[in-house]
Amino acid sequence: MDLFEYQGKQFFAQYGIPTSPGGVADTVDEAVAITERVGYPAVIKAQVQVGGRGKAGGIKIANNLQEAKMYAGNILGMDIKGHVVKRVWVEHASDIEKEYYASFTLDRSAKLHLAMVSAKGGVDIEEVAATDPDAIIRYHVNPLDGITISEARDVVARAGIDEPAIEGVSEILVKLYDAFVKGDADLVEINPLILTPDHKVHALDAKVTLDDAASFRHPEWEQYRATQEYDGREKLAKERGLNYIGLDGNVGIIANGAGLAMSTLDVVNQVGGKAANFLDLGGGADANTMTSALEVINTDHNVKSVLINIFGGITRCDLIANGIIEALSRVELKAPLVIRLDGTNAQEARTIIEPYVSDKLIIRPTMLDAARTAVSMANGGDVK
Ligand code: GDP
Ligand code: MG
Repeated sequence: MDLFEYQGKQFFAQYGIPTSPGGVADTVDEAVAITERVGYPAVIKAQVQVGGRGKAGGIKIANNLQEAKMYAGNILGMDIKGHVVKRVWVEHASDIEKEYYASFTLDRSAKLHLAMVSAKGGVDIEEVAATDPDAIIRYHVNPLDGITISEARDVVARAGIDEPAIEGVSEILVKLYDAFVKGDADLVEINPLILTPDHKVHALDAKVTLDDAASFRHPEWEQYRATQEYDGREKLAKERGLNYIGLDGNVGIIANGAGLAMSTLDVVNQVGGKAANFLDLGGGADANTMTSALEVINTDHNVKSVLINIFGGITRCDLIANGIIEALSRVELKAPLVIRLDGTNAQEARTIIEPYVSDKLIIRPTMLDAARTAVSMANGGDVK
C-alpha cells in the first residue's frame, strides 16, 4: 500500500524523522486557514500518489493570503498524470541550501536491504540515476545486523554530503532504517532531504510503501487504507473478488493461476505486445467468475484484444469452456477474444467452443500462438 506524502510524513514522525509541521486540507478555506497558521511563505502541495508533482505544477509557494487562496484553488481538483487532486498538504516553506536523497528498499536478488544515498537529490534524481549513477551510493544492509550510526556516517561521507549535513543525514538514515524495518515498509524514500541555511537537516517529501502482508499486525493502517485510491478497474475487480492488477497495455489477460497469468504477461511481452492487466481467475473458474473477469476487462478502454489462457489441471477445460460460452452470453465483449485451452479435457473444451468461433472469437493451440494473435489484433494487424 502506497501512502500519500502527508501520511508518509506522519509515519516518519513516529520514528523521529524531522519534517515541517503543517496540515492537510480538502477545501480552499481549510488550506488557507493552515497557511495562516504555519505562516508565510507556505508551500501548498498536491496529494497524489505519483511522482513529479512539482514539475506538473502541483507544488506552489504562497507568500500571502491572496496567493494561498489562488494556489489552493488551482491545485485542488487539478489532474496530475490522471490523478485528480482531492487534498493538499500545507506546511511552512523551508529555505533550501542543498537537496539530498535517501532511501531504503529490499534488494530481492541480494536478499538484503539496500540503502541509497545521494548528494544530488531533488526533482531530477531519475536523470542523475541515468546519467551519473555513481552519484548515488548503494549500500547493502544485512537485516540481522541493521545499520549503525558509524556505518551511516561512512555511507553519507561516500555520497559526498556536505560537511555541515553529515551528522544530521547520518542520524536520519539510522531512523529511516528503523522506520523501514519496524514500520514494515517495502520502501521508504526521502527526496529531497534538505540542508537549510541554518544547517538543519529535514525531510521535505516522503514516499512510503507499506508491506500489505504485514497489515495483520498494524491495526493503525486502517486510517491509510481509508484514503486509498484504486483505479476504476481495480475497484470493480476487488468487489468481484478477482485477483487483478491494472497495467497500461492493450491486451486484456485472463488466466487461471498466478504463475500462468505472469507467464502470459511475459509471452505477450516477448511477442512485442503489452498487457492491459494481470488477472488470475484462481482455481474453480466457473461462469460467474468468468463473467466478472470479462466485465472488468470491458471497463478498460485501452483493451483492444483479450487473451484467455487456461491450463486445466484439477479444473477441467470443458467446464471452463462452458463457463466462457455462458459468460459471453451475458457480457457483450468490446474486443476480440483469443482463447488457448490446454490440459485436462482440452479436446472436449475445443469442441464446445468450435461452433462459436468467428473473427471475434479465435482458438489457438499454444500459448505462443495465442499471444501472437492477440497482440497482432490489439495492434490493428491481421489475425495471425
Ligand atoms: P515531488 O515533485 O512530487 O517529488 O515533490 P517534492 O515534495 O519533492 O517537491 C518538489 C520540489 O519542490 C522540491 O525538490 C523543492 O525544490 C520544491 N519544494 C518543495 N517544498 C519546498 C519548500 O518548502 N521550500 C522550497 N524553497 N522549495 C520547496
Ligand atoms: Mg520529491
